[in-house]
Amino acid sequence: MKRGAALLELQDVDLEVLRSQKRLDEMPEKRLILEVRHKTRDVTALRAKANELVSRLGAAVSRHEDECAMIATKLDDEQAKLMSGDVTNPKMVMNITREMDALKRRKDKLEMDEIELMERVEKAKSQVAKVDAALGQLSAKEASLIDQYKTKGAEMISEIDRLKARREELTHAVDAQTLTTYESIRESKGGVGAGRLAGTMCTACRMELPAERVAELKSGPDIAMCPQCRRLIVMTPAEDQE
Ligand SMILES: [Zn+2]
Repeated sequence: MKRGAALLELQDVDLEVLRSQKRLDEMPEKRLILEVRHKTRDVTALRAKANELVSRLGAAVSRHEDECAMIATKLDDEQAKLMSGDVTNPKMVMNITREMDALKRRKDKLEMDEIELMERVEKAKSQVAKVDAALGQLSAKEASLIDQYKTKGAEMISEIDRLKARREELTHAVDAQTLTTYESIRESKGGVGAGRLAGTMCTACRMELPAERVAELKSGPDIAMCPQCRRLIVMTPAEDQE
């Protein structure tokens, strides 16, 4: 392979590697995975809040139950006192009766409140279940995106490996001096280090070159420097024949 042709193919391969690398970096799956992870984090925070509400309401229900039990014991005690016949003073009987009425009212109120609390517990629990279902869906989505990313990514990575192997072959067909120049220009000029003389145009900068420059280039070596963009410019056999 002639060094000019090798250099031009090397340029093509290098651009293809850059494009593949960029595609790999910009895979939509990568962005979607990050989005799903952000959402998962938000929903997990929601679940923590919903769980906290369930336990807070549960604790309130327990407190109500404890107080109701306490009042029930007290009512039994007062009732026993009345039934024992020990309390005969009508004023004391009236006091105990009044006390018992107050306890019953308190107990009724607590029981009503407890029913309301239990309804709220149920609602909070169903909220937790909904959040759990959403988390399950998000986790399944993330797993499938990771699979897609790995499959597509693997294809791109093997394509890049193939291009790099071809690159290695091509570098052997270009002399070391030209290769070094090409690499340094490629690095400083946006990934493009070499072009071809196509008619009177440099394919690297797409500038028409003055006729006398073209004549100079054609009478010179097969690889020269573009007078416009200062990149390597290759005289291809087809152009030589013109
Ligand atoms: Zn040029």
